[in-house]
Amino acid sequence: MNSASLAFDEAVMPELVALRRQLHQAPEVSGEETATAARIKAFVEALKPDALLTGLGGHGVAAVFDSGAPGPSVLFRCELDGLPIYETGSIDWRSRIPGKGHLCGHDGHMAIIAGLAGAMAARRPVRGRVIVLFQPAEETGAGAAAVIADPAFKAIEPDFAFALHNLPGVPLGAAGIRAGAFNFASEGLSIRLEGKTAHASQPEAGLSPAAAMCELITGLPALPVRIGMAPEDALVTLVHARLGEAAFGVAPGEADVWATLRSIDNDLQERLMASARELATEVAARHGLELTLATRDRFYACQNDAEATALVERAFAAERLAVHRVDAPLRWSEDFGLFGSVAKSALFVLGAGVDHPRLHNPDYDFPDVLIGQGVRLFERVARELCG
Ligand SMILES: [Zn+2]
Ligand SMILES: [Zn+2]
Repeated sequence: MNSASLAFDEAVMPELVALRRQLHQAPEVSGEETATAARIKAFVEALKPDALLTGLGGHGVAAVFDSGAPGPSVLFRCELDGLPIYETGSIDWRSRIPGKGHLCGHDGHMAIIAGLAGAMAARRPVRGRVIVLFQPAEETGAGAAAVIADPAFKAIEPDFAFALHNLPGVPLGAAGIRAGAFNFASEGLSIRLEGKTAHASQPEAGLSPAAAMCELITGLPALPVRIGMAPEDALVTLVHARLGEAAFGVAPGEADVWATLRSIDNDLQERLMASARELATEVAARHGLELTLATRDRFYACQNDAEATALVERAFAAERLAVHRVDAPLRWSEDFGLFGSVAKSALFVLGAGVDHPRLHNPDYDFPDVLIGQGVRLFERVARELCG
């Protein structure tokens, strides 16, 4: 089998573009992807895969194209979820669901993986098996963990795992990857401080958390440098703060400070989280305040495996794509990173255009021209590993 020949046929592009736009019109947010999963299941089922799994880690859908011969298990993953953002663009296929939008391009990523499934159905791999995974709940960081923890995942546990993300700000169609650290780890920390309200004329009769809150607002962003982390390796971003109630007669009794902590790898992230907890605990204790800490939206760092990265780079070269140099890990997070704990994994980016609206902007829309390119890249990787 000539690994350079692809089964993907440009003639299916109108069907993939139509699928992408249907998905775009009916976005569902993380954990609620029922209709999206049903649409994807119908599309993939028609391709007659050798196995079809649904309800993976929530609404996840996976299909297996099996050679029946020994060889590697190779998984290609996309995301099912949209965002709780009101779409404002003027495209004909704009979201029909108020307040929800496919504004990260997961509709496009699904069309790419659907196209790859079609190519695998048109010509089965000759060794090993190819698995396409439509993963739920990427935006909250919960989906990859839920899929991997699902007992049904055992049956499709891969040797290799690949994913892509489109990236505005980068020339349209330029491709970027690097071995090693690729995306930052990330986690949200919410800090609640509780004292005692009082009449605004007698603040000394209460216990205001205002001073403690200010210490955290200045202390948290300064934390990475204070504990000796390089600024390019770690950062803390304040995302929300609130003090008391909007009432002129009341001295405040409670405050909330929320921050998102990010760093280049999972070990650094643990140290950063621990230091932030220590800081909050110390400040609250010194001011005599009750403290409640909570975390959410945990994303593991994405580490690209060297062998998997080399496979992707060869696919870039075979497709003669312009290369977007990725000199440093990307600060945003992707829950695909967790697949690195079970497989040799690699995530790469495809440019969505220098002046394209950014991910999560209200007027963002996935560029359809990337669909064929994405399918061809994934199919090249699949053919090299599985023929
Ligand atoms: Zn997103
Ligand atoms: Zn995304």
